[in-house]
Amino acid sequence: MLWVAILVPILIILPADGQFPLPDFEKTEITERQGVGSYRLPNDVIPIKYYLTLEPEFDTFGFDGIAEINLQVINETNTITLHSVELTLQNLTINCASPAEDYSNLTIEYSFLDLARQFLVITLSRNVAPGSECTLLILYEGILNQDSHGFYRAQYTDREGNVRWLAVTQFEPTYAREAFPCFDEPALKAEFEITIIRPNNYNSLSNSPIYISMPYMNNKRMDLFRVTPRMSTYLVAFVVSEFTSVSSGYQAVHGRPEFINESRGDFALSMGLQVLPAIENFLGIAYNSSLVKLDNVAIPDDYFSNGAMENWGLVTYRESSLFSKENVSTSAEKQGIGTIISHEYGHKWFGNLVSPLWWNYVWINEGFATYLQNYGASVAQPSWRLMERFALSTLQSAFSTDQLQNARPMTYDAETPDEINALFDRIAYNKAGSVIRMVEHFLTTPVFQRGLNRFLVNNSFSAATEYELWSALDEAVIEAGINLGRPLEEIMTTWTQQAGFPLVTILVAPVTRTVTVAQERFLLDNASYDSNETWIIPLNFVISSNPNFEDTAPILLLRENSQSITTFANVNPGEWIIANIQQTGYYRVNYDEENWGLIANYLNRDNFNNIHPSNRAQLIDDALVLARAGRLNYEVVFDLISYLNRETDYVPLNSFINNLAFLDRVLSASPNIALFREFTRNLLQAAFDYLTPYESNIDDHIDRLNRQQILTTLCNLNHEACLQSASNYLRTWQHISPDLQSAVYCGGLRNGGEEEWNYLYNLYTSSTTERLQRNRILNALSCTENSTLLQRVLDMAFSQSTEWRLLSNADRLRALTGLYTNSENGIDIALNMNFAQLFASFSTRNVNTILNGLSLRLTRGDRQDLFRQILQLQDSSSWDLHGNAFRNSLSNINQTNDWIANYQDAINNWLIERVTLPTTSSPTPTTTVSTSDTTVSPTTPAPPDNGSIDVRIMPLLLLCTLILLYT
Ligand SMILES: [Zn+2]
Repeated sequence: MLWVAILVPILIILPADGQFPLPDFEKTEITERQGVGSYRLPNDVIPIKYYLTLEPEFDTFGFDGIAEINLQVINETNTITLHSVELTLQNLTINCASPAEDYSNLTIEYSFLDLARQFLVITLSRNVAPGSECTLLILYEGILNQDSHGFYRAQYTDREGNVRWLAVTQFEPTYAREAFPCFDEPALKAEFEITIIRPNNYNSLSNSPIYISMPYMNNKRMDLFRVTPRMSTYLVAFVVSEFTSVSSGYQAVHGRPEFINESRGDFALSMGLQVLPAIENFLGIAYNSSLVKLDNVAIPDDYFSNGAMENWGLVTYRESSLFSKENVSTSAEKQGIGTIISHEYGHKWFGNLVSPLWWNYVWINEGFATYLQNYGASVAQPSWRLMERFALSTLQSAFSTDQLQNARPMTYDAETPDEINALFDRIAYNKAGSVIRMVEHFLTTPVFQRGLNRFLVNNSFSAATEYELWSALDEAVIEAGINLGRPLEEIMTTWTQQAGFPLVTILVAPVTRTVTVAQERFLLDNASYDSNETWIIPLNFVISSNPNFEDTAPILLLRENSQSITTFANVNPGEWIIANIQQTGYYRVNYDEENWGLIANYLNRDNFNNIHPSNRAQLIDDALVLARAGRLNYEVVFDLISYLNRETDYVPLNSFINNLAFLDRVLSASPNIALFREFTRNLLQAAFDYLTPYESNIDDHIDRLNRQQILTTLCNLNHEACLQSASNYLRTWQHISPDLQSAVYCGGLRNGGEEEWNYLYNLYTSSTTERLQRNRILNALSCTENSTLLQRVLDMAFSQSTEWRLLSNADRLRALTGLYTNSENGIDIALNMNFAQLFASFSTRNVNTILNGLSLRLTRGDRQDLFRQILQLQDSSSWDLHGNAFRNSLSNINQTNDWIANYQDAINNWLIERVTLPTTSSPTPTTTVSTSDTTVSPTTPAPPDNGSIDVRIMPLLLLCTLILLYT
């Protein structure tokens, strides 16, 4: 728009050395091409400093920009190549200087946009020599669209019903080029001086503090920000809004004024104030040595794709990841807020201060942020036990992806924007975080800390690869007098540059008691895979005569495929051995059946607590997954998990519940599903009795998480006392404690009828119900077998009824996934939906999610046949668009059937031998679950399971995947 208006202040802020020509107002002609070749910039010319001026317009939803970029010529060239996409470039001017060259006649010969590679290529009238300094001035326009990346617009409705607009940024990994022409690669760091022109009633934020704010024309102001540290383009940010804030010291939380007034930012701020010094102390580098403020901004959920973004000095979050409210937010949600702040603050060092040289090392950013999200939040909130739960929350979740044949290595090349975006996955976050934790325990914490400090100091304001990381840690190792026998790099690249992870198999010779360890790659679906990968594995063990689970240092480094260990030749007859103390090593462990049996016997005795909770969780997860992969008999595994009938600790119970979703699903069409559910109810009875359905003021954080998972699972399993409690809560028709809501809403509907459903439906539609609570209600509305009510949920998913037309895409997806997840009849309703309408009203990605989830629930032959017929009837355009999703769904059905054919009988035989269903007439406990060692009578009778197919286990992992928000 008004270039003249912007140029007046620009003259004020440009250096007054007279080098800058007044821009030519003639529009520069820029053609378009489809280039071929590398997506990497040539780097003959690199940026030193950007002066950016941006003026968002809230009436036209456009923005005007001026980018003035100081450049240094590295190699002789007549071409300047940088990034620009979705911008309308108006005018380009170049000016170069060098003591040895005369550039007075230098002009731009021609420029073009390379559309595929998102390049702006500028060809000069002559070569420029190395050492020359140039200034490129670009005038341009852009659109504030609503696609949640680049410089874009978001909105919310205030308490008076007015729509309020804001302009925000999301640049990682390749979207800074949508806001200003730039050298958009992480290693091409520069300083930024940013100016924002905004309406008087708005305010602006950027990475650094404002140093001058001055009146501008047309009721606007111009905010000039201090120069930033040398940093990557993807970390630049600005927000123009009517937000207010709450602050302490140099930290602040910003958001819509009504939420700030209600103190919704206070918990986040208090977490930030505790987490920042914790991480500073751990790494030995103060945050304010590079930037003097740290703002956190809450963006309305529908306009923020990720959980949060670590822009230096200006972290952005979705509102539900930053704001909390008493009596609305659950303990798990508050924990999510604490850990996401800790994650983003961790990036201030890993990512912001030291950046990856290229995106193939993005795992250094995300792995350390994942590690530090647990570390920082655990210092602030010790009762959350986050470091003890690390294996459960992070490592076991990484295994679930990394055990598939198509897993990628941590260090993995990518060039195009799509390829780069795909790197932000569970391997970059959870696997890298787990491997980093392994390094800490392998080297010991003090050595790890010294090495990290050295890495950060050596590479500050610069970019690095994994080699700089390993070498800095290696120096700390040598200083500590530790001899690893080989460079750390050689050890660690076996973990970072190979896909997958090892299965360590430990065999104790029956007579000599010699222990042999072997390694191979573990794959879930291909037991016959011929492994030739080896890892250098920091290995440790505990034996039952000395159950010390505290020392996590390795006893040896396993280098070969197979190795005998004489050190443990004294594993006596009757003694078990457990490897991978606290599951700090990134590997699974299998044993001979005798050792598994000894462990199971030990667990089933009273002193099972001698085994560390993390290792109890490890044994459960390893055993269940090994059985699923055909590497261990289910009978052995069921003997082992039988000990859970006395377990009350959250960590092992959570490990079991995560695996239960799979077992309950594949057994759902079994004739003995009633026995399996009776067995499972009994396993969780002790935890139910210990926690009770009632909250207490002596509950700690873990008790509250534990109660939530036990009630949800038991009510889904039709546990009578659980359902009764849920009904009693719901039928008070009063507000229910947030931590109980999910279980009570779902259990109350299972046990109730139309009255309960209508009550929740009305609560959902009430304008005063908070969004988080509405989400919990929407998840639960399909916890009924009433087909009329389920049909109404389907209507909501397709927004057929007028009142649902404003339902967001995320809400519609939530409604539909709940339908086939929560209810047996819901599966049939989902199968009978209009698939053409499904494809028309959901994105390709969501169609993939829905077909994947639905196909996993199809264990009955008649339903599988119907589903296959539905896919066959789809036209070629649907196959073109969703063919991968169709094929994946059919493959899911085949895998389910394979599992049933291979393993169902063994489990049924075990169940028939050991589990008895209670008789319907008896009010007293009649059920026993026996193992070779124990007989347990539950204290509360479980209701009879009528034997019908009754799938009730909510696949927690599936739901987690749905809401998995990378940050
Ligand atoms: Zn991150």
